[in-house]
Amino acid sequence: MSADKKIKAIKKETEHSSLIVRWVIIVALTIVVSFTIFSIVIYSTVSQQSISQQKETSQKVVTNLDSRLNTIDSELQIANVVPALSPSTRDVLKSGANSVIRKPKDVSSAFSDDLLSSVTNPDVLVAVYNKHNEIVFSNGMGTPKLKKFKADTKFQKQTVKGKQILVTYSKVISSRSGKVTGYIVVLNKMTYYNKLMHNLLIWMLVISVAAIIIFTIIAFLVVRDVVDPINQISAVAREVNNDPNSEVRIQDLHRHDELEELAESFNSMLDRMQRYIVQQKEFVSDVSHELRTPVAVIEGHLNMLKRWGKEDPEILDESIDASIQEADRMKHLIQEMLDLTRAEQINVQYPNKTAVVSDILRRVTGDMQMVHPDFNVQLDMEDLPEETKIQIYQGHFEQLLVILIDNGIKYSTDLKQINVSAGLTQDKVRIIVQDFGEGISQEDQDKIFNRFYRVDKARTREKGGNGLGLSIAQKLVTSYHGEISVKSVLGQGSQFIMEFPVISKKEALRLEKLDQKQVHGDRNDTQM
Ligand code: ADP
Repeated sequence: MSADKKIKAIKKETEHSSLIVRWVIIVALTIVVSFTIFSIVIYSTVSQQSISQQKETSQKVVTNLDSRLNTIDSELQIANVVPALSPSTRDVLKSGANSVIRKPKDVSSAFSDDLLSSVTNPDVLVAVYNKHNEIVFSNGMGTPKLKKFKADTKFQKQTVKGKQILVTYSKVISSRSGKVTGYIVVLNKMTYYNKLMHNLLIWMLVISVAAIIIFTIIAFLVVRDVVDPINQISAVAREVNNDPNSEVRIQDLHRHDELEELAESFNSMLDRMQRYIVQQKEFVSDVSHELRTPVAVIEGHLNMLKRWGKEDPEILDESIDASIQEADRMKHLIQEMLDLTRAEQINVQYPNKTAVVSDILRRVTGDMQMVHPDFNVQLDMEDLPEETKIQIYQGHFEQLLVILIDNGIKYSTDLKQINVSAGLTQDKVRIIVQDFGEGISQEDQDKIFNRFYRVDKARTREKGGNGLGLSIAQKLVTSYHGEISVKSVLGQGSQFIMEFPVISKKEALRLEKLDQKQVHGDRNDTQM
């Protein structure tokens, strides 16, 4: 895919992606909802506090008026209300509020009068009614109307032209007779309150809008920061899906977080997957190459037989023998290939098997000695405690030993001696298979564990080797968390060294129990 196409594909992906839009909407909605709730709480708290202050102001005015008016025993009327108010108030009422400002000396005592300051407050309108709802005193235009009310005092909030006002109704009760003589109505315009609430509302709106814009931008940037790498990952996935051999990988994200971890795992997964594909291809080509020779030999012999050999018992015999030998080699090769593939699935098949090292060593060396009586197969277990166990399936341990001893025998020269030794080193069991044969050069030592690798192809073929034994051995050993290595001097001999983690008695017991459970479970499964 060209770079241009790639960019287009990524662009298309981003266009289709609703993740950013969805996240930004969610964040914006969350902010709107939380700011609305927050604003309502703040607004109503401030409103309640201010209203109660305003109520206090109104109540003060009512109390001041009432303290003068409750001295009147009879029903309230202009004649007794005005004198009841202070002389200073009377002066002011006579000459108007402006004169108070113009003649400060005359009215200095009037300002000390609480009542006066109440009735001259431009925010507060006061009216006094008699029992027949007739106005007997007021301090200005637009005095509040009297409405029926039950309690002694009643506060009522009203909205006039979009502004809140507070009207207080109070009964005037004569202190001497205890009878209702009239009513006081106080209208508080609450200018300060209305201004405060108006400003608060404006500020809240401004802050909310600013917050929504700022947080939405932040949300967009944060989400884009997350979505961009995801888009990159999916673009790479798509590309590899289209072309499994593609070398495209996710670039280093430089972010040290889970996404970088994901990208790294994704890249190594792709590497591994492609390595498997290559290995698989190599395996198929190796196998077909290996099978070609025996098939060609068999074919050659059959052709020879067809042409000349049918009547010639000597050729017939030779060809049949050679064909049987090649067929046998093929069978052997197929068996080894099967072993190699199985060696890769050990963890699944035999997870809890254990083996007593000394028992198996004794058995295998004994068997090999019997099969090869011309060889001396020595076993040295001086440094190995008798009950030492390792985590391995017995059959595999035997197979490993057979591969190594068999190689020692196959590639021996004059000295027909194989030494097998085992010992315990700290937490590992070390098993060494030593021969005194032809040895392996330093260069070949690195390759002998590769599949189908043989130092001398023709000679090895003569000895029946396919170049698979050590690959199987290495796969088996590493599957059981062990290590295998070689030390060799050309012309002198080789040492193959295997190391396995030793397991404690407790661990061995635990594994054996698990194994029994598994065997039991498998048996039940097959019975069902
Ligand atoms: P093969 O079935 O051919 O023996 P292996 O994988 O076991 O396959 O060995 C790979 C090659 O390593 C052999 O072909 C041989 O050349 C060399 N090799 C293995 N073991 C020994 C040994 N003990 N001494 C010398 N060469 C060895």
